[in-house]
Amino acid sequence: MFEQLYKNAPAKPREDDFKNNQGLLFCGKCRQARECFIEYPKGSGKNIIKTIPCQCDIEDEEEYRRHKSLEAFQERVAELRRQGVTDEAYTLQRFENDDGRNLEVTEKCMRYVRKWGTMQERRYGITFTGAVGGGKSFYACCIANALIDRGVKVLVTRLSDLVRNRVQDKSAVIDLHDFELIVLDDIGVEGATQTAYNIIDDIYRANIPLIVTTNLSLSQLKESNPIEKQRIYDRILQRACYPIKVDVTVSRLDTARINAREAQGILDDET
Ligand SMILES: [Zn+2]
Repeated sequence: MFEQLYKNAPAKPREDDFKNNQGLLFCGKCRQARECFIEYPKGSGKNIIKTIPCQCDIEDEEEYRRHKSLEAFQERVAELRRQGVTDEAYTLQRFENDDGRNLEVTEKCMRYVRKWGTMQERRYGITFTGAVGGGKSFYACCIANALIDRGVKVLVTRLSDLVRNRVQDKSAVIDLHDFELIVLDDIGVEGATQTAYNIIDDIYRANIPLIVTTNLSLSQLKESNPIEKQRIYDRILQRACYPIKVDVTVSRLDTARINAREAQGILDDET
């Protein structure tokens, strides 16, 4: 589109354009020349008319380039999400969909995103603990998706899946070194295998910050049996060093109770 702006041919007149006494076209809007004479071929002494951009064209072009670079960035973000988020459901867990059930936790997670530069530099991550249904995975994924939106390479997966890939399906092995942050959902369900330890040790040695969620308590993580399990959790806690406990809030318990009562009412209804 814009390469046309410099072609060796007269410009196409637009509304309100006018010609000067030499017959060159001027823009009716910004009143700058849209054409000039050049000697062509060089040294021939013959002049032809060349199209040049006026101020309006330049502004359009800048707008076009801005649009193009924004588009390219959005494409990159979509690609990062495809590569890094293994489960479609994780992509929907975003701050925009937060029901505000636990604002203190939300605020901490948003702060992690805002301070990502420092967190990455110091390799600090988070361990989300708390009861089932509190939203540990939700908050971990909110952080992941917000960072992906900013162009950060994040992997969201489960340790048990990584282990399975390494043991069973070598073609599906993900290169962990490719990522700037790794989120492992639901730590503690995998077996205490050497492969599980190797994966965590890989992440540790590659200096990649780690965020995990788990149904285990912090003290269960710190004092686990057998010793093979303990080795894995010790390594995890060295990177996912900041604990956030996500409790099921009263309002959510209330919702469950209200739903139960409603369900009961429907089921009791004999019509
Ligand atoms: Zn113009």
